[in-house]
Amino acid sequence: MKSKAAVRRIIEILKGIYPDALCSLQYEKDYELLFAVRLSAQCTDERVNKVTPALYARFPTLESFAEADPKEVGEYIHSCGFYNGKSRDIVACAQKLLTEHGGKVPGTMEELTALPGVGRKTANLILGDIFHQPAYVCDTHCIRITGRLGITDGSKDPLQVERQLRQALPPRESSNFCHRMVLFGRDTCTARSPQCLNCPLWAECDTGNPPRKTASK
Ligand code: SF4
Repeated sequence: MKSKAAVRRIIEILKGIYPDALCSLQYEKDYELLFAVRLSAQCTDERVNKVTPALYARFPTLESFAEADPKEVGEYIHSCGFYNGKSRDIVACAQKLLTEHGGKVPGTMEELTALPGVGRKTANLILGDIFHQPAYVCDTHCIRITGRLGITDGSKDPLQVERQLRQALPPRESSNFCHRMVLFGRDTCTARSPQCLNCPLWAECDTGNPPRKTASK
């Protein structure tokens, strides 16, 4: 796997390409990010950003979500797919935030993953973006690219990848690194057609095509 120095070089190159490592989901309130991430499962951030303005206009408070009929929520999020499960989770999550957390999004992995529809990927994103803690958001882009680069051993298991990234990444860089993986995965290291010939990370990559002649130290 990659040396600390090689990981540092990768981080710096990515910083140069994507100075603003922002989450592409749009939100104003903390819980809106939580719900937007739930909606983004098996869906694009672009699609989520299209439905959330009307959803948040119809349900402008956490209380209004907690009292909502999941069927009506489902009508607003229909185009995001899996809308029955997502709407049930959002309403149940709003109720739990109000009854157990005083209407606030909690700031620990344990509390977050106890919320309906919230797994480690979502919890990590909330910890990074809302609480500015070290965060390892192991989505499909992050898992694929860190494996190709050789930062991880190529495991597809999100928990394994998260554990390896905790060892490999400087904690203060981790959240932004994961956001940059999403951007890089959309425009260069795509799932089906990685643009290796034009890739700024080619010299650091274990699986680029054509392969580099010497291993990075
Ligand atoms: Fe991805 Fe190819 Fe770049 Fe490696 S060289 S990071 S596989 S695009």
